[in-house]
Amino acid sequence: MQGDPSLWAVALNTWDIRRRPQLGRGALRRFQEQRLRQLIAHAYDRVPYYRELFDRHGLAPERVRTLADLERVPITTRRTLQALPLEQIVARGFDPKKLSAHTTSGSSGRPITIRRSRREGWLLDAVRRRAMIGYGLRRGDVKAVIKTPDGMPQPRWRQELRLRVRGTINQLVDCHLPLPEVVARLRELRPAIVECYPGVLARIARDIDPAELRALRLRFITTAGEVLTPAMREQATAAFGVPVFDVYASWEFNLLAWECPQRGAYHVSDDAVILEVLRDGRPAAPGERGVVVGTALHSFAMPLIRYEQGDLVTRGAEGCLCGAPFSTISEIQGRMIDHFPLPDGRVVHPYRLTTPIRDACPWIRELQAIQLAPDRLVMKLVAHPHPSPDELDRVRALAAAQLGPAVRFQVEVVPEIPLEASGKFRPYRSSVYSDYAGIALRR
Ligand SMILES: [Zn+2]
Repeated sequence: MQGDPSLWAVALNTWDIRRRPQLGRGALRRFQEQRLRQLIAHAYDRVPYYRELFDRHGLAPERVRTLADLERVPITTRRTLQALPLEQIVARGFDPKKLSAHTTSGSSGRPITIRRSRREGWLLDAVRRRAMIGYGLRRGDVKAVIKTPDGMPQPRWRQELRLRVRGTINQLVDCHLPLPEVVARLRELRPAIVECYPGVLARIARDIDPAELRALRLRFITTAGEVLTPAMREQATAAFGVPVFDVYASWEFNLLAWECPQRGAYHVSDDAVILEVLRDGRPAAPGERGVVVGTALHSFAMPLIRYEQGDLVTRGAEGCLCGAPFSTISEIQGRMIDHFPLPDGRVVHPYRLTTPIRDACPWIRELQAIQLAPDRLVMKLVAHPHPSPDELDRVRALAAAQLGPAVRFQVEVVPEIPLEASGKFRPYRSSVYSDYAGIALRR
């Protein structure tokens, strides 16, 4: 596919990703700007959406050469990309059928399908692996990933191949299983590392005997996908007896930032993304909070240039106190996802409820599920086109299949779902129990 890195370029880049932390801030910045120029030229030539955007703003691609020039490029929102047909956003020369496609269905209230080539995926994996090696990942390690299942489990030959090439195996554990079964699965897999949503991890830490958790003899735990509060971290560290490191990732960018192993700040994956923190459209000063806008430096199949990720973070220093050359952020106010405790004693992860609905109802643009009482749930939907009564019945039936007959479920089609007072969009919240109740959120 034209525009896709050659295998040689992937190998060189992977090597660079490993050694870049030693090269210092200047080298990182040079890499970002060189990559930015390639990306802008490519997007203007081959992606109709960006050509039209640049032309409409009278911006010649040659005028975007440095990080400072980047602010000339208008910001693109998820809502804009979500509404565009494939041929507007996938670069000419890439065959969409050969790209991996992931729809951010469960994790975000506003779905978008992110496409990338296999080789682009390898590079982003290398960036993620670098962070894991910094935490103590070793060759031969099994990593158990406790998450909502997507797609088929990997066949055994692929696991073997991965073990040979990368030296590690990822094993998926369904986070919707009852917690004792999740722990039993971990005992079977004997992982050195567990990756988990903070909400599920906190529930395991609260509900399972710590002696059982310590007997797993993990080396460390990483959390991703949702906000890890200090209380959740304390509970998990105490129960498992190992350090918990938080990483900040999204389907759009893969690893955006990872917690400094010496703690305090998050290192930004500067060689994979140009991460801007904007406050009212201007760059936030260190210590100031703002919205994350990212430019994906390895995404040429479906470029994301100044794409508004939407999370709120505090901008940190250039270069971390630990000596790493990466820029830093802190206080990531990403997804806050409440689980739903039901009258029959089950605690349902919201993805369990919404993923089948989203898969069956392509007309859903935005979604919010709110648990008002143990037996009462409301789902707000922004729809296009407007659903028929039959389609709404379908939503009710799919919800009833997950929630059971004891829960009253109501669907509301609304023109818009308002943001929280903090400015965040919270797709799943519970008035019954929330790990995020009372946490101080600032704008
Ligand atoms: Zn550091």
